[in-house]
Amino acid sequence: MLNIALFGPPGAGKGTQSELLIEKYKLFYISTGDILRKEIAEKSKLGLEAKSIIASGGLVSDEIIVQIIEKTIKENQESKGFLFDGFPRTYVQAYILSGLMIKLNTSLNCLISLEVDQEDSVTRLLERGKISGRSDDNEEVIRNRLKEYNDKTLPVLQFYKERGIYHAINGANSIEGVSKDINEILQNELSKNLLNIVLFGYPGSGRGSQGMALAEKFGLEYVATGKMLEQEIEKNTDTGKRIQELYDNGQLVPDEIVVQLIEQKIENSKEIKGFIFKGFPRTLVQSYILDGLLKKHGSAISEIIDIEVPTLELISRLDARSKTNRCMPYDNSTAKIVKRLHEHEIKTVPVIEKYNQQHGVKKIDGMGTFEEVFEKLSNEIEKEFKKI
Ligand code: AMP
Repeated sequence: MLNIALFGPPGAGKGTQSELLIEKYKLFYISTGDILRKEIAEKSKLGLEAKSIIASGGLVSDEIIVQIIEKTIKENQESKGFLFDGFPRTYVQAYILSGLMIKLNTSLNCLISLEVDQEDSVTRLLERGKISGRSDDNEEVIRNRLKEYNDKTLPVLQFYKERGIYHAINGANSIEGVSKDINEILQNELSKNLLNIVLFGYPGSGRGSQGMALAEKFGLEYVATGKMLEQEIEKNTDTGKRIQELYDNGQLVPDEIVVQLIEQKIENSKEIKGFIFKGFPRTLVQSYILDGLLKKHGSAISEIIDIEVPTLELISRLDARSKTNRCMPYDNSTAKIVKRLHEHEIKTVPVIEKYNQQHGVKKIDGMGTFEEVFEKLSNEIEKEFKKI
């Protein structure tokens, strides 16, 4: 879920920006002001209680607010996230929101504060008053609303500053400018919600074909370093030429090159749900690199899966593959096959062990048909998606 609170004095432009955001991110919009005005129009008990307070520019009681918010959230639990406008407006409401989010097993991702000069907001509201028909858009009430904002609402900012999710934006910019700044914050938030899977397994375990199929099924970006290196060679880029030289001399490709390529891939992958890493990290050093690369993007590894296949079966699969047109240059002789298995054992198995201690590694039995193994892997990934 992506839950956002839009914050700022009356007239800061919250309503306008909300419209753009709900369209783009498909969030459920909750404006306590709108709900209260609707209650007033319907002359409900709640509306009657709120009417005179709103007319004077005061804040309605937290009790009323908690009722309307709880009801609205409950009725829309399946939404992709909530966009709160005009809530939380008091320190107590900030706690109410935390409690409600916990109930939904989620949390507020960020509070975006549109900062505008108060005299500017008075001017904007007086302008709006000419067309909005809102009885509280007149100077006397506006001044009172601002006073309430300064006394009761500004302290809410401290609440979120302490929790590290407060973002200030210059609300004096154009609508497009403000919208761009907000989107930057939200894209960053979304990138933290990525589902990052590291897929391990000995050569021949099926991690490549399974990884590709899983990426396709779940809309994840498949990151296979071996393939990326090959592509660089094919594209004949400067890096590609260097890689070819290293290959020709039988040397290993240094981490610097691999890191660069992965970094580019992460950076260029916009609007994706996450990554499946295959063939990386291969060494302990690379495991630290991966942690660092994901952290840089506010993300982290979500799950580590190891596909287990007995050694004799691996050899027989790789040997069978070497006789088909899917034969890779690195499995065209028994000596090469054994070398790759050995490399995995001495370099990569310690990485899996480290992860097992840190995060826990999910072991999946790689025996059986492609479909059988695919189903087991899919179930695991589905479980992880549910957690997000
Ligand atoms: P708005 O449309 O957000 O400017 O809200 C209009 C009026 O509704 C405010 O001046 C308050 O009287 C009332 N109101 C809206 N949201 C809240 C809230 N979260 N807490 C208390 N009063 C609210």
